[in-house]
This record gives sequence, structure tokens and C-alpha cells, in this order.
Amino acid sequence: MSGAAPMRIGAHLPVGRGLAWTVRRARRLRLDCLQLFVRNPRGWRARAYADREMDEFRSRCASAGIASVIVHSCYLVNLASPDEELRARSLEAVADDAVRAARLGGSAVVFHMGHHMGAGVRAGIRTLARSLSSLVKGLPEGVDLLVENAAGRGTEMGGEWEHFAALFDLLDGDPRVGVCFDTCHAHAAGYRLDGARWVSRSLAGFKRTVGVPPRLVHLNDCAAPAGAHKDLHQHIGLGTIGEAGFRALLRRRELRGLCGILETPMTRPRDDLRNVRRVRSLMAPAASP
Ligand SMILES: [Zn+2]
Ligand SMILES: [Zn+2]
Repeated sequence: MSGAAPMRIGAHLPVGRGLAWTVRRARRLRLDCLQLFVRNPRGWRARAYADREMDEFRSRCASAGIASVIVHSCYLVNLASPDEELRARSLEAVADDAVRAARLGGSAVVFHMGHHMGAGVRAGIRTLARSLSSLVKGLPEGVDLLVENAAGRGTEMGGEWEHFAALFDLLDGDPRVGVCFDTCHAHAAGYRLDGARWVSRSLAGFKRTVGVPPRLVHLNDCAAPAGAHKDLHQHIGLGTIGEAGFRALLRRRELRGLCGILETPMTRPRDDLRNVRRVRSLMAPAASP
């Protein structure tokens, strides 16, 4: 992506009313990109889509000016699991998500780094690297794998930049695997983002340690204190990251041109619209301090 382009704004949208509705919503919100689940997010079951519905989605997105579609894998996926059965299931789900992403005109499948479940971080990252290497072999053209950072609770990995550095070492810098940077998760993991100085410090640490820039951003404010390791999303500007933090994030050079996907709470109708508007106003030059 061009270093000069502003961040492209998107949102995670529901698919329960059909893919045509999803694109209509994206159009109404004037999104540049969107993210969706293609299976039950808290189960394994894949949604049944007719090929025609997926083809129509792709062409509708193109005519709505949606430059990028991202598929988020379900939360049960754990490619780092020491349990072979769970790992096999996870591999199958992500491989299938990638095939669907390709059919939908998507550019990436995003999933969390996973849990080592007591095997230890080193073993967990080794298992994850093995899983990713095998997935990359069968990956459809144009669809990459993005590993998301986490709040780092319990045996959950991805709460420290060093985990990504270790993973990319094992993968030998495979270009088909990148990082999705979730602002809420980073802040919750202790990489503070509540203000320009913290943003610059945390992103510099990311760059120094991981070595590659993020490829996707999840734009979420955080409802818990920095470093509390709690994954609680909040509306943009109303959490512990706050407006100053987002204003700085949205201006960072290394994040420009990337898709920034909102995964903010949907408790009231039009919450999505309010968050999109808030992000756009924080991006506007007039909003700069
Ligand atoms: Zn996220
Ligand atoms: Zn989260």
C-alpha cells in the first residue's frame, strides 16, 4: 500500500441477514473495506452459501468501492493446540475459510495466535508455525494469513511482540503470513496507546521486535485498564485508549494505507455508524491538536 494514503476504514459486519444485506450496510456506512465471519463464530459450523450468493457478494463489493474483504476465523480455532484433534479441526476450518475468502474476493483470513494450553509458549509457537507452514501450501492465490495479537490472558499467546518475532523466525519470513494489529488487545496487553507518546513507543517496540509492519489493523477502544489482559472492546474514544490515542494511531505513517476494521460493540442500532463517523472525524486534519 502507498505510504501516503490515509487508513482505509472498515467494520466487522454481521452476515445473518444474508450477504446482500451485508454489502448494503457497508455501502450505507461508506466503508472502504469489511470483515465478516463465514461460519458460526463460536462453533465450527460453516454457513451454507450458494456459489451464486458468494459471486454476487464479490461483484457488489467491487461496485460499492470496497477495496478489501477480510474473513475472520471462528474463535474455537487454535492452530497452536497440543491436542492433535483440535489442531486438525482448526487447520480444516482455516483452510476452508481461505477458500471461501477467495470466492468472496477476500484478501486475507485473520485468526488469533492461539493458546499453548500448558505446553509453554515455545512449544505453542512451534506448533503454530507447523500449522501455518502446512496451510500456506494449499492457500488460494490472493488470500494471505494474518495472525492477530492478543490481550495475553492465561495460556493465550500473542500478548507479547516477542511471540511474533519467534513465529516469523520459524516461518523464515514467509510473505503469505502477516500480523493483524488489534489496538484494544495491544493496550490490554500492556502496550499502551492512550496518547501520541505511548502510541509511538508501543509501535516502535513492535517494529523493533517483530521486524515487519502490521498488514491489517483492528480499531477498537478498550473498556479495561491498560495491561489488565482483558479483551473488552469499547466504542472509539470512550475507552482507556481514548480520542488522543486514536488521533495519534490514525496518523501513524506505518499504518497509513492499511485497512482499519472496527470491531466495536453493537448494543444500540447505528452504533456502527457512530463509530465510523468518530474515526473519520479523528482522521480529519481539522481534528488535529
Ligand atoms: Zn480484533
Ligand atoms: Zn478482541
